[in-house]
Amino acid sequence: MDEKEKRRKRLNNNKRIIKNRLKFLREMESFIPDRTGKTYFQSMSDQPNRLNKKHPYDCGNSKCYLCHSEKLFGNKKLDEKKLP
Ligand SMILES: [Zn+2]
Repeated sequence: MDEKEKRRKRLNNNKRIIKNRLKFLREMESFIPDRTGKTYFQSMSDQPNRLNKKHPYDCGNSKCYLCHSEKLFGNKKLDEKKLP
């Protein structure tokens, strides 16, 4: 794999992640504007690269018990559990 191919793969991956997170925000939108008069989805769709590094509902703390409860307590998510 040469450098151009690596770069193309990384950029495509970032684009896919941003698209999925914008879709998630659109579904979870609360329609409540902040002090600038825009909703969170509108401000994020104006600047989509802000969603590149971090999930919109993640606070950024890797040991947060609210955001990473399934990782820290060892519980699986509902869609990962297999029903008998
Ligand atoms: Zn958190």
